Amino acid sequence: MTHADWQCRCEDIECLGKTTPPGDLIYESAQALIRATDGRAIISSGVRCEDYNERVGGSANSRHLPRHADAVDLVAEGILRRDLWIVAMRVLPLSIMCVGIYPWGMHLDTRGEHHLWVYRPLVEGEGRHAAIF
Ligand SMILES: [Zn+2]
Ligand SMILES: [Zn+2]
Repeated sequence: MTHADWQCRCEDIECLGKTTPPGDLIYESAQALIRATDGRAIISSGVRCEDYNERVGGSANSRHLPRHADAVDLVAEGILRRDLWIVAMRVLPLSIMCVGIYPWGMHLDTRGEHHLWVYRPLVEGEGRHAAIF
């Protein structure tokens, strides 16, 4: 993993998401999770400029925006989200992190609070996708 993996995926060369580095704690957390999965977890979204954030349906005050730059989305091919969560519990300082478990993978941010939200199912193909706790 390098800082390039965190850059905004938009086409704009002036994009602020391409020049804003991620915060240290979120960077180290993503690195720990990637290492613990032998590189099967990869970054699908790091820092996003306003335009790109809007395009992908991010919230208006998303932690992915350059003004925060303390969030990451990870996808893990061939790993059940349940197992990714087990790895996260082992290697991340979760008591000071926010974790969202989604059908596509995992969102992490280090806004300085602890929240966990889970979109079911934890096992693909089972049940509905709406329940949050
Ligand atoms: Zn951008
Ligand atoms: Zn996210």
